[in-house]
Amino acid sequence: MPPPALSALRSLAPVGYATASGVCQSTGRTLSTMRRYYVTTFGCQMNAHDSERIRGLLEELGLGEAAAPDEADVLVFNTCTIREKPDQRLAAYLGNAKAQKSRSPETVVAVGGCYAEAQRDRIFERYPFVDVAFGPGTIHHLGEWLGAGGNGIARSAFGTAGERRFSAALATQRERPFQAWVQVSMGCNSVCSYCIVPAVRGREVSRRPGEILAEVTALAGEGVREVTLLGQNVNSWGRDLRPDIRTEFGELLRAVDEVDGIERIRFTSPHPKDFRAPVIAAMAECEAVCEHAHLPLQSGSTRVLKRMRRTYGRERYLRLVGELRTAIPDLALTTDLIVGFPGETEGDFEETCSVVEEVGFDGAFTFVYSPRSGTEAAAMLDQVPDEVKHERIERLVNVVQRVAAERNAQRIGLMEEVLVEGTSRTDPSLLRGRTRRNVTVNFTGSAAAGELVPVRITASTSQTLRGSQEALVAA
Ligand code: SAM
Ligand code: SF4
Repeated sequence: MPPPALSALRSLAPVGYATASGVCQSTGRTLSTMRRYYVTTFGCQMNAHDSERIRGLLEELGLGEAAAPDEADVLVFNTCTIREKPDQRLAAYLGNAKAQKSRSPETVVAVGGCYAEAQRDRIFERYPFVDVAFGPGTIHHLGEWLGAGGNGIARSAFGTAGERRFSAALATQRERPFQAWVQVSMGCNSVCSYCIVPAVRGREVSRRPGEILAEVTALAGEGVREVTLLGQNVNSWGRDLRPDIRTEFGELLRAVDEVDGIERIRFTSPHPKDFRAPVIAAMAECEAVCEHAHLPLQSGSTRVLKRMRRTYGRERYLRLVGELRTAIPDLALTTDLIVGFPGETEGDFEETCSVVEEVGFDGAFTFVYSPRSGTEAAAMLDQVPDEVKHERIERLVNVVQRVAAERNAQRIGLMEEVLVEGTSRTDPSLLRGRTRRNVTVNFTGSAAAGELVPVRITASTSQTLRGSQEALVAA
């Protein structure tokens, strides 16, 4: 039996669709009237990548991108539900979409991603003006749900989690022609007690190596120089593959490194428990793999890590950092940290602050713990009061910024290879790019977006570097 929301939806009749004459029955629009879409993305890089696929798919259906949501006929929200904050932001955006729809009733509202999946039984009750909802991994159905050829829009439909598939076969609209995300796995087999991801994205499925390499090779042929390999737990990739092609993430790094034209390889997010010797060796030996690891720690207290079910403790994490730095001396390390996990004491919190100093993180995403319905931690009885969480996060942010500022200051005087991304966001007379260690540099110089240039670092803050481009010296 399909869930109630699904069966209710299946009974909903399409209200508008394209006919052979090219006139939409409900709206009377002709096919020559270009429909426009607007995609709003919340959350992680996986969602940003999925949104590129959604844009590509809508373009293939003949829709054009609108400059702003209120100019669009199709509004797509690609959602996140990792914490309460994105849920609240989505509610505000959907309020605007509802108002737009009451002004222009043909507006189509589609809600995809993790929030849609988590709320699959309730979303149409809570937001009756939503026409289409779909979970992560079911983007390939969006075209059918949005109607014949995308010219007329048929309302209703929902993707089911059982239909999850890699969206790599879909067209994509990338932000920059020289950088691309490549999804290597979906889902997650970990059971972190605070996290909703396994419930909404399902068990881990690795993409076949041949498929990944074919995509990377095609991207290189299109002029892509930097790829970021994506997975919820990217370095456990390969273990669920058929025995005859089973392999591990280090081998994948080596294979991508051999693709002509790919000059930078990044990956996110690795889990510390799966960061094994072959991956470290591949990072050290492959020229294109950048000297940066985003290594989510979550807490500096072994007691809290245990309750989080992270399966490593503070000491093991620090040992891993040591092994990484021995193999790759110039490595930049960034992390994710949660404050206010249930039962976190002042002493536990201070351990998180001290580990930031001990590791010398180059940056960190800091989160206030947010109880997610259905997770193990949400049911724990020793929840930390909000005011304590907020006081702690302020203190943690100060430590993170001070340490990152010290790390960046150590780059002054050094030459960094920078991939130019465009002009500076704050000063259009400067160029902006990223070092191999993934730090943004604003610099004087003349180079086109997509070029790799040497930049001498002259100044720094906690988040950015300043510099000037140097001439290439012939060898
Ligand atoms: N799979 C990755 C990992 O394990 O590191 C990233 C998953 S999640 C998209 C990104 C980050 O969100 C996590 O590393 C964690 O710090 C944070 N996060 C997840 N659930 C949370 C919650 N309930 N409250 C606060 N932060 C949370
Ligand atoms: Fe969530 Fe943990 Fe999986 Fe990351 S590894 S997605 S934090 S369950």
